[in-house]
Amino acid sequence: MLHFISHPDYDIPLPVGHRFPAHKFTSLMDRILRAGIAQGGRLSHPRPASPASLAIAHAPQYIDAIAHNHLSPDDLRRLGLPWSEALAKRSFLAVEGTYRTAIKALQFGLACHGAGGTHHAHFDYGAGFCVFNDMAYTARRLIAEGRVQSVLILDVDVHQGDGTARILARDDAVFTCSLHCADNYPHDKALSDLDVLIPSGTGDSDYLKILAETLEDLSGRIRPDLVIYDAGVDVHEADALGRLTLTDTGVKAREDMVLEYWLGRGVPVATVIGGGYLADFEHLMRLHMMVFQSAREHFSKWC
Ligand SMILES: [Zn+2]
Repeated sequence: MLHFISHPDYDIPLPVGHRFPAHKFTSLMDRILRAGIAQGGRLSHPRPASPASLAIAHAPQYIDAIAHNHLSPDDLRRLGLPWSEALAKRSFLAVEGTYRTAIKALQFGLACHGAGGTHHAHFDYGAGFCVFNDMAYTARRLIAEGRVQSVLILDVDVHQGDGTARILARDDAVFTCSLHCADNYPHDKALSDLDVLIPSGTGDSDYLKILAETLEDLSGRIRPDLVIYDAGVDVHEADALGRLTLTDTGVKAREDMVLEYWLGRGVPVATVIGGGYLADFEHLMRLHMMVFQSAREHFSKWC
């Protein structure tokens, strides 16, 4: 069965005009349900991660600062989100949501999270709208629990997964791969196990060619027991923060290529949505839905 993970408390209350589309999470899941993509599957809600379990990826002092509003003005500026009870609550929920998605992927071959991909969150601070690093947390926990021996984090959000790379820099069992626009946030890039730099302005065909080569490269380097796939849609030509020029067709082809590649090799995939900053909210929703649509199609074929 194809599992979908989300939570009604994922949305974040933000001031009007804030760049982060903080109400996208419940809207996205509503649309997925209305479109029938989840039909025959199961939607479930995560419980919040405990501070003790989160300490596998984050400093206890930082976890406490998020829980109890102890962030400094500088911390908040770097994070780019104002602290609120709702932000704290959703941060503990969403990080566990990716873990739960991964568990379902290991059971059923594929599962989708309606949030996640908070890859700019570092060990002891948040950045770029990312509070806790759901992918680093999930990978480390799965390995510590002996559920898997090796995890690939494949991050194709337009921005580099710098927090993920730094938290997992010394974890031999987790391979971090970031395909990102070379000339974009964060300015200070980290070192992933594999960084693939995409030039500004790259469109569908060149992007998909680079992606296909990267997948081949990866399968020569690692045999993962699980892929955590960050399908950020800020690669789209209409995105306010990306600098690439993928079209709708290109984004769908990307999701299809990634899922086909790993599922076709018997490797389970857990998907997370990552970033997306189109001014047109309906268009943003359509783009985020593509990884779910692709999952529905590939689940029927491979799982
Ligand atoms: Zn991004």
